Amino acid sequence: MKGEPAAKARLTAHPNCSLFPVPCNLSPMKHCGDCGTPLDFGPDQSGYPRHVCQACGWTWYDPPTPVTLVLVTLDDGRVVYTRKRSFEPGRWSVVSGFIPRGERAEDAAVREVKEETGLDAELVRYMGTHVYEMRPDQIVIAFHARATGGTLQAGDDVDEVEAAPPELHRLRAGSTSWWLVKALLEEPAGLLPRFEQSTG
Ligand SMILES: [Zn+2]
Repeated sequence: MKGEPAAKARLTAHPNCSLFPVPCNLSPMKHCGDCGTPLDFGPDQSGYPRHVCQACGWTWYDPPTPVTLVLVTLDDGRVVYTRKRSFEPGRWSVVSGFIPRGERAEDAAVREVKEETGLDAELVRYMGTHVYEMRPDQIVIAFHARATGGTLQAGDDVDEVEAAPPELHRLRAGSTSWWLVKALLEEPAGLLPRFEQSTG
């Protein structure tokens, strides 16, 4: 994204940590997930900060939760926005959802589009991965999808859905939704491929 600094992950200070007094991205973890012993926080053999159980050797690697976000567009160029009542007034998102264990990101994306918006969709572009600085505990796998059918209506997990032109002011700056719509605005030709079969 030209002109935009790369999003920096929000760093968290570990007040009890003497070995790594600088903030890092690990989430606070107090007890061993295996035996319940209070965890030590220190460098592993490679020097990375880790939560390690001195009793049983269990290590907390703090894996991010995989999430998919889907920029859904209609053939007229409008974007499908979603909203929850908990959002501040005027703020929207795009389709989003967790990727459960055992499901491919691609399948989760299409499933979430159907569940949240009622629309059938086909993926047209892998947009990349993104880390929103407010949610360093998540890794977002983002797609652009084209709506192919169905009826637009709010479904699971959202309170409102709306199809409207791509507009950044609807989205929280720096969020993954914002990043996706910004990419759409900057590269409309590349992002809106035509899929109609030639009849000639
Ligand atoms: Zn343990």
